[in-house]
Amino acid sequence: MITAMAVVAFDPQLLEAIKTHSRREKEKGGYEAVGFLARPKGEEKVVASLPLANHCADPQQGFFVEPWEQFRAETKLAESGYEIVGVYHSHPTSEALPSRADRAMARPTELMVIYSVSYDDLKCWREKDGELEPVEIQ
Ligand SMILES: [Zn+2]
Repeated sequence: MITAMAVVAFDPQLLEAIKTHSRREKEKGGYEAVGFLARPKGEEKVVASLPLANHCADPQQGFFVEPWEQFRAETKLAESGYEIVGVYHSHPTSEALPSRADRAMARPTELMVIYSVSYDDLKCWREKDGELEPVEIQ
């Protein structure tokens, strides 16, 4: 669980992995990429990502993860001693700002990383008091 802090450390290789996944999905047909962000239990730094399949009916405009795939991914990470700290997804062409749907989905206990492929811009957000506030990536 993410407690009150405005700065979160990310492994640079993880950020590169998110960008690569996002570019690949965009090349497929302008799709949004989606995946989990994870870290070893008890550690601060977010070091791992787990790409998930985007089952959204309109994958150019949003993302949806099948509950079973989500469950399997959560189990796999937990068995490896990892905890999920949030979700990343990409905006193939728009800026790395949360959409209305992103805002509705955001939770105070989870990080939301958005990578804009067109702008090559990666931002991290977290819900606080009904607003999404930026989280500094360290
Ligand atoms: Zn979005």
